[in-house]
Amino acid sequence: MRDMESLDPADWSDLRALGHRMVDDMFDHMANLRDGPVWRPMPEESRRELRRVLPRGPTPAEAVYEEFQRLVQPYATGNLHPRFMGWVHGGGSPVGMLAELLAGGLNANLGGRDHAPIEIERQVIAWAAEMLGFPADASGVLVTGTSIANLIGVLVARSASLGPSVRRDGVGDTGLVAYTSVAAHGCLPRAMEMAGLGRDALRMIPCDDQGRMKVGALTARVAEDRSRGLRPFLLVGTAGTVDIGAVDNLAALADVAEDEGLWFHVDGAFGAIAALAPKLRPLLAGIERADSVAFDFHKWAQVPYDAGCIVVRDGARQLETFGAEAAYLRRESRGLAGGGIWPCDLGPDLSRGFRALKVWMTLSVYGADRIGAIAQQTCDLAATLAARVDREPALERLAPVALNIVCFRFVAADGDLDRLNADIVADLQEEGIAAPSTTIVDGVLAIRAAIVNHRTNYADIAILVDAVLEAGRTRVEAAAVAEKEVPPVIHRGQVYREASRLGAEVSRSRRVPGFT
Ligand SMILES: *Cc1c(COP(=O)(O)O)cnc(C)c1O
Repeated sequence: MRDMESLDPADWSDLRALGHRMVDDMFDHMANLRDGPVWRPMPEESRRELRRVLPRGPTPAEAVYEEFQRLVQPYATGNLHPRFMGWVHGGGSPVGMLAELLAGGLNANLGGRDHAPIEIERQVIAWAAEMLGFPADASGVLVTGTSIANLIGVLVARSASLGPSVRRDGVGDTGLVAYTSVAAHGCLPRAMEMAGLGRDALRMIPCDDQGRMKVGALTARVAEDRSRGLRPFLLVGTAGTVDIGAVDNLAALADVAEDEGLWFHVDGAFGAIAALAPKLRPLLAGIERADSVAFDFHKWAQVPYDAGCIVVRDGARQLETFGAEAAYLRRESRGLAGGGIWPCDLGPDLSRGFRALKVWMTLSVYGADRIGAIAQQTCDLAATLAARVDREPALERLAPVALNIVCFRFVAADGDLDRLNADIVADLQEEGIAAPSTTIVDGVLAIRAAIVNHRTNYADIAILVDAVLEAGRTRVEAAAVAEKEVPPVIHRGQVYREASRLGAEVSRSRRVPGFT
């Protein structure tokens, strides 16, 4: 008889040794993050080396691991590093990493059927409901991220408004319109596109000077749409806007939703985790009245990518939006095909991995209070950063700081400040010192430091500010020299003092009232 093919080794000892080495190497990597750069650009030759035709034959696992160590690991995103402050990226954790290993080992498919991994996911959803102040029987499902969780929110709201027959009939010309603020995340208009409602049907309501949706403008727009025969169905509040971390007045929005008969969905991508921090929790007041909440475990809760979550108060609405009817998904009262409602009945995915394990292990091992304490710590760090920015004459803060995001810029006497600040950010990233990102606040480019990582400390904040000042001064100086086309006779400190003086003037004239 011919030998049968299998991917399991005949002798496990070599692979076992390699596996142990991988785990040790990754622990070392995490333990020594501070010694390395935040990020380094991937050299062209390394990219080239990765490009090759489909490998038809085998390569020893040690050799492939060596390529990972040489070509992949050094050029990763950098979000484990304490001075990664770009976008809103979670830092992951050692326990999360181990959970990924275990989940990979079990290779469970959480689309459905009757097994323990699904019980873990149900437990995670129950914890999420508890965290948000939702009823214990709220339903939900883990997804890739808040983008998809928001899409599910829009789809559930859509069928709650039109009835489940929308699944058969489509949306047609129903005139459904939804509301969110101009500060909402870009995935919401995309969700409206994918839901067949079109992004123009998402009304972008203006914000106040704290970045929160103006409630008066919202009710006026709802009234206007109704008078034009349209059908308002959904209100999306944001807990933690992506640009500046503002939290909508969720209680006021819940009132409007109730009065107007709108589905109330909250995008709490990172901000919902504030519910675990006693001092931050009051900012979320009203979230417990939402019909659905989308948020991520992979941002502020430090769970490794990817782990988004949608929780729906009335599980029946979620089930009628996605309930699967296919014959091959038939349920039985006993056996592996039992277990009642399956995750594939609650969202668009059928096959799904065991994301729940890393969430369950993170919350179990560290405890929810510790995750909340880390959220609080990042807010305290942000407050320190904001205070330092306010003290530095060459820096200007561009937005209030409600949570863990600080938007600011370097100000020079003249020149294109947007270009200058974008260059400063790229300088810092390329030098590997720190990785803030940029955004636009009130029409100007801001350096945006989103402090999400549990590893970030006060020294990291000081290093970030010092590096921004240094890069800004160096660039101003270089520009001054280039303009004069003479050798640099000006002392660096002199240039900086002049830039600071003029910068402070610009700063004072631009400062927005009401900033704290
Ligand atoms: C990050 C973010 C999203 C998108 O979440 P993903 O997990 O990246 O899909 C949506 N809304 C807000 C407010 C966010 O910060």
